[in-house]
Amino acid sequence: MRILLLAFAAFFLQAAGVTQPSTTITIVGGGLAGCECALVLARAGVDVTLFEQKPGLRSPAHVSDHLAELVCSNSLRSDERTSGVGLLKAEMRALGSEFMKTADNCRVPAGKALAVDREAFAAAMSERVKSDSHIRLRERCIASLDDPMLVGSECVVIAAGPLASGGLFVSLAEAAGAEHCYFYDAVAPIVWTHSLNSSIVFRASRYGAENGEGDYLNCPMTSEEYERFYEALRTAHRVEARNFEQMRHFEGCMPVEALADRGPRTLTFGPLKPVGFVDPRSGRRPWAVLQLRAENVNAETCNLVGCQTRLAQSEQERVFRLVPGMAHAEFARFGSMHRNTYVNAPEVLASDCSLKKRPHVFLAGQIAGVEGYVESAASGLWLGLVLATRQRGLALTSPPPESAFGALLRHLQRPVKYFQPSNAHFGLMPELGEKAHKKDRKALYAARAEAAFAQWLAASRTILGF
Ligand SMILES: Cc1cc2nc3c(=O)[nH]c(=O)nc-3n(C[C@H](O)[C@H](O)[C@H](O)COP(=O)(O)OP(=O)(O)OC[C@H]3O[C@@H](n4cnc5c(N)ncnc54)[C@H](O)[C@@H]3O)c2cc1C
Repeated sequence: MRILLLAFAAFFLQAAGVTQPSTTITIVGGGLAGCECALVLARAGVDVTLFEQKPGLRSPAHVSDHLAELVCSNSLRSDERTSGVGLLKAEMRALGSEFMKTADNCRVPAGKALAVDREAFAAAMSERVKSDSHIRLRERCIASLDDPMLVGSECVVIAAGPLASGGLFVSLAEAAGAEHCYFYDAVAPIVWTHSLNSSIVFRASRYGAENGEGDYLNCPMTSEEYERFYEALRTAHRVEARNFEQMRHFEGCMPVEALADRGPRTLTFGPLKPVGFVDPRSGRRPWAVLQLRAENVNAETCNLVGCQTRLAQSEQERVFRLVPGMAHAEFARFGSMHRNTYVNAPEVLASDCSLKKRPHVFLAGQIAGVEGYVESAASGLWLGLVLATRQRGLALTSPPPESAFGALLRHLQRPVKYFQPSNAHFGLMPELGEKAHKKDRKALYAARAEAAFAQWLAASRTILGF
């Protein structure tokens, strides 16, 4: 029945003089993921139609007419192998990423980070896409998954980003299940568990014994300690909200500093409430408790519960290190808050990033559940490789989770209670399985990742075709 309807729609459009995409793969969104995906496919000789709504229509964050626009900072973050994102970049380079080639060509001085001339970067990426004979760029907003422009495509890749136009995302929510789709992201910082002071932080659930041995780590505060933290939180520098981001705070995901603005006791009756806890050091109930919840199965990193924040990153370090037990906390990820359209990937996506309920529709980029410029491009690169090998009748296995790429892809597949998009970081990888000294851990993660990725690449070269 569906095929009959599609055929009828195709006939109708042809009769009406509306041109159909002649390719079998259609990509919606010419951002970081969409361009990277298109370029990988084109390199493999696969014809692609790429729909981009600009310049006719823009999200409030997109200002340039170019494709692959970096909407905010010009930093692609660390380029060092001892960081998750640095490793991811190295793996992308090894896979022939056009995003990385262009970024390296447009590099501007930024110490150990990779930063680019934004304008030059987007112009060069646009030129690459527009000059490729396998890519047909069409400037048009796709209104829904059933948009007539998508009729006849064997595969549809949705790479419309965290600010995907409304109609498209509503339609995606209908297809995937509205309960698995999110429009806003309130992100709390994540810290490395080993960097917490275990003589202060104690494990317990609220009301202790009733709830087993305790799923949470707890940082107890006296009234003086809380006072100090509270003042620092209130006065710390906040990242300015853009106009379109204001009025976005739902009660359930208020930034912790915005809650603090309501009064000195709001936090102690809210996310920092101490009821049901006894500090083992004093035998008394603390004045306030900051709870930490394990982020992954191996509990190597944990999330500061209820502390979603839009403080500047350096301020997050300064303020949260005032919490007892966190004086030397190392941050695996900083908190942030912005409009962010994404799906609960482990629930709605199959392992090839297709929608379980519509197997010919694939997601790439931030909308698929990764976070960040580099990660979004990596997601587009990966999907491009998967679809390109599939066109040749082959199947590509994922890189191992010990690698940066594999860890990021695994994040999209592991069900959790509260799924959130993630940057590439070592906390997504399996634990080291050895008692490593704190200062050696990053190097050990990196060395293991490099070895695992190299082995996978060597074994996959024939399938990859390069
Ligand atoms: C305000 C904001 C600031 C951010 N700042 C940073 C930062 O500083 N550093 C960082 O690492 N990450 C940042 N991110 C997160 C994220 O990494 C970027 O948004 C990244 O660009 C996502 O890549 P993408 O390819 O998924 O989407 P995008 O790069 O946004 O690309 C999506 C493309 O799809 C197009 N599109 C949307 N809907 C349709 C439609 N219906 N039909 C056709 N085309 C459509 C858009 O015009 C756009 O060109 C930020 C996100 C936001 C929202």
